[in-house]
Amino acid sequence: MKKLNRLFYTLLFLFYFISIQGCKSPKDPSYNQSFMTFGTMVNVTITNESYKTASEAIDLLEQDFSKLHQQWHAWHTSTLTEINQKIAHSEPAEIPTKMLPLIKKGIELNQLSNQLFNPAIGKLIDLWGFHDDTQRVKQPPTPGAISYLLKQAPSMSDLHLTGHILTSDNPNVQLDFGAYGKGYGIQLALERLHKLGIDNALIEAGGDVSAVGSRGGRPWRIAVRNPNKAGVFATADLYHNESIFTSGNYERKFVYKGTTYHHVIDPRTGYPSIGATSVTVIHPDPTIADAAATALLIAGPNEWHKIAKKMGIKYVALLDDEGTLHLNPAMKKRLTIIKRKMKVKISEPLFFEKKMIR
Ligand code: ADP
Ligand code: MG
Repeated sequence: MKKLNRLFYTLLFLFYFISIQGCKSPKDPSYNQSFMTFGTMVNVTITNESYKTASEAIDLLEQDFSKLHQQWHAWHTSTLTEINQKIAHSEPAEIPTKMLPLIKKGIELNQLSNQLFNPAIGKLIDLWGFHDDTQRVKQPPTPGAISYLLKQAPSMSDLHLTGHILTSDNPNVQLDFGAYGKGYGIQLALERLHKLGIDNALIEAGGDVSAVGSRGGRPWRIAVRNPNKAGVFATADLYHNESIFTSGNYERKFVYKGTTYHHVIDPRTGYPSIGATSVTVIHPDPTIADAAATALLIAGPNEWHKIAKKMGIKYVALLDDEGTLHLNPAMKKRLTIIKRKMKVKISEPLFFEKKMIR
């Protein structure tokens, strides 16, 4: 009997070993490498390339990310802090080529989101201490300090770009790329992979994922994290050039006198947004996906639909503070919800879905 058992387990192990090796067969090799950047772990998977090509490509991505991180650092001396100083002194600032699309998209997305997404509120983020890794501030700012900054009304529409020269009508604008810099970094990484001729890859950064090509001819299957808790609440298939981004009120926060304050600030009130716990969006452009997830978290359960439509977002999942999951019909089709007994509310369509390719 014991011998039979041993044989069974040996066969089982062999079967498992062969199936794992099968995934790595020369026809469908898969290479995976991680590195830390922007305060998060980035994990890159490349398939159908040699080990050498894949590992050299990921090394390059790591160098690119590290350069960007140095340029965009919001509080250590960086190109961004120098630009912010020029704005504060009402002086023109020269914008590096790689930062131009970020500012242009910031201006556009600020408008489309009815100003909910507002990367010009760096002073407010600073006041709350959320631009800092260490979260040195652990209590809310005074209402007076918040209302003073709100009265200055810093907005992306105060900015003017002429070529590489940026000027601001409002010295209280302080740029903070926290809500979409990671998405733009991933977009540049995708462009880099494209230039290197890599057609199948997955980039994951702190729960946000972008896909290129496929995994052995099938879409990339990814897990959507459970807000607040460990584990997965849904899975989704990502197709070529799609990104899935989540913004949540659980990522960075502090508790003061029993109240939790999180890092996404509603520019209308100056306080952390209320009503939504997390928002997940799927979009072809990772920069837009990142910005939209933040904007819709602020918009909350009552306004997300209107803002998503205006921003041209086609797939949204919003978990509200009561635990109800709001989905547009197209997003419902994309997600396989694992968590049972979840209250789900399906909204009106965000777009005319019959025209949808998938
Ligand atoms: P995560 O960093 O967890 O992916 P987000 O993409 O939502 O989350 O970005 C949150 C960051 O965006 C904050 O830490 C802050 O730097 C910045 N931010 C906060 N509120 C706003 C806002 N209303 N508009 C633009 N940026 C914001
Ligand atoms: Mg974001």
